[in-house]
Amino acid sequence: MAKSTPPPGTSDIFPDEIPVWYRFENTAKSVFALYGYGELRTPVIEYTEVFKRGLGDDTEVVQKEMYSFEDRGGRSLTMRPEGTAGVMRCLAGTDVMNGNEKRVFYIGPMFRGERPAKGRRRQFHQVGVENVGRMSPEIDAENIAMLMHYLEEIQITGSKLVINTRGAREDRKPAEDALRNYFSDKIDGMCDDCKVRYENNIWRILDCKSRECQAPVESAPNVVEFFSEESQNYFKKVCETLDVMDVEYEIDYRLVRGLDYYVHTVFEVVHEGLGDNSALALAGGGRYELFLPDMKKPVIGVGFAAGLERLQMTQEALGVAAPEAGPAPVFLVSLGDEARAYSMKAAAELRKAGIPVVVEVESKSMKAQMRAANRVGARFALITGENELERSVVVCKDMEAGEQVELAQADVISHIKKFF
Ligand code: AMP
Repeated sequence: MAKSTPPPGTSDIFPDEIPVWYRFENTAKSVFALYGYGELRTPVIEYTEVFKRGLGDDTEVVQKEMYSFEDRGGRSLTMRPEGTAGVMRCLAGTDVMNGNEKRVFYIGPMFRGERPAKGRRRQFHQVGVENVGRMSPEIDAENIAMLMHYLEEIQITGSKLVINTRGAREDRKPAEDALRNYFSDKIDGMCDDCKVRYENNIWRILDCKSRECQAPVESAPNVVEFFSEESQNYFKKVCETLDVMDVEYEIDYRLVRGLDYYVHTVFEVVHEGLGDNSALALAGGGRYELFLPDMKKPVIGVGFAAGLERLQMTQEALGVAAPEAGPAPVFLVSLGDEARAYSMKAAAELRKAGIPVVVEVESKSMKAQMRAANRVGARFALITGENELERSVVVCKDMEAGEQVELAQADVISHIKKFF
């Protein structure tokens, strides 16, 4: 274990890398607000049952990827692997259960014990949105449009939106029977994961990416044909609404998405910038009916999540420039204890005026202090020695132009302010 590296699949994010994260977060806040969504912050840990019951015991996330532990009070807790279940746990205590709509978004870290690889982290970050309490194809379409709007605002161009329907809960049985029947004489030649899926969660076979499964999956029956007319009409309305909102999409009848809670609309956004790994989606979501522990009725809603690390990878592939870091600071150089005391006072006044300041607090030579100013990328150095102190002036060196002027102490803020 190297002391300075974090655990596998996790990363440190340094201050010079943070502007791009701020851009993703701030744009999410402003775009989602245009649709009436407000931020909800739920805990990173939840009772394990929330995910087991919410996502479904048979899902891969629950079976293989959860970071669960027993706390000192003997409770089984889990670091959230996704955002929806916790948000529903929280909102189930409000009037969403009576059909009153809530519009929320979240931003934060998620945890999955996956094998780390490019674009696959153990701690990753998502922005996500949930529209909870009501069901309508127009809300689904608006949700999708909001995701595409967000991607556009962060300059992710060229992404592909893929949509499908999983039908209503009652549609599952006939569709599953048809799939089981079709795969029964093919499953022996398919991958080991699909053999397990055949027993536990046959839908997942449809989005298997293994080579040996491609041919049977491609010729599988279109399950949508087994859905009720009502469900098919629901999907048609989603597509029509996307058309009127000018959102481009492709229908892929094999898109099922990993979790059990999805009903009706499911969608994913893929992008070539994530490489040729078609298993990596930029964002995904859908409509859900999510059961929580001890609840007979599910919480209903529609939502999506986008991974910030994958957004970043895509932006890099597209050559989108990182946003500018904040303004370079003013560096205060002082020669002697009294000059330093003045610098501390001047720093406080400059900061109150909104100017970033770094003060050298050690007694170092002028040369060493100027080197330190260069290291922090200072825009100006303000130099005070005994002589300046006596005359109530400072020397102001413009680090870009290399020129210096003498300023009265009283004029420092108004002079510097012009450049910020
Ligand atoms: P999911 O909940 O699996 O549909 O994931 C939604 C989004 O979160 C994906 O489209 C990715 O952008 C991101 N994501 C999911 N799992 C990971 C991971 N292990 N590492 C990085 N990003 C992820």
